[in-house]
Amino acid sequence: MSGKIYDISPAVATDLAVYPGDLPYSSHSATDSGVMVSDIHTTLHIGAHVDAPLHCMANAASIDQVEPSYFVGSCQVIKLRLKPKYKLTPSDFKDIAITEKRILIATGTFEPTKWSDDYAAFHPECIDFFHTKGVFLIGIDTPSVDPAAAHHLPAHKRMAEQGIIGLENLYLNEVEQGYYLLIALPLKLRGLEASPVRAILTEV
Ligand SMILES: [Zn+2]
Repeated sequence: MSGKIYDISPAVATDLAVYPGDLPYSSHSATDSGVMVSDIHTTLHIGAHVDAPLHCMANAASIDQVEPSYFVGSCQVIKLRLKPKYKLTPSDFKDIAITEKRILIATGTFEPTKWSDDYAAFHPECIDFFHTKGVFLIGIDTPSVDPAAAHHLPAHKRMAEQGIIGLENLYLNEVEQGYYLLIALPLKLRGLEASPVRAILTEV
């Protein structure tokens, strides 16, 4: 691997915002004879994280069943300047050639340490549009691909139906629009619906 590495994961700490009602992150450390051992309690939807289809669809694939190849490979970063609460539709991408199967979208509508309901999200039609382009991973710099108020998760469900994996809560402020290699591997948590990831981009 050559070229600059962009860390697109917010640091996992107690100041990270989590979806209202989810368990916030906390940690506990013990040091005995100079040996530090810690444990953490947290929602799996903390910081940069992957949602498996099981998150919103019964009997669908859990995070350990999603092939690692989803999370390692070429990707396209698209930077948009969106208004709060904006809902992305296919027309937002009419002037952008979608040439990669992994698409990361910077909306600029969410700060990882400050919860707000105002973030931009996807209209389910937009998920259909990406599906027709062969996209199998969609990343976003907000805590959810659905609006905060959409408790029935229409965009999540559309993604699960179409085999598209979601990568949420990315930090894309310091990355330019363009093409990169993405590495964002989830933990192999058997039977669970999500996992935090350390997501990075490198120049290609
Ligand atoms: Zn999630």
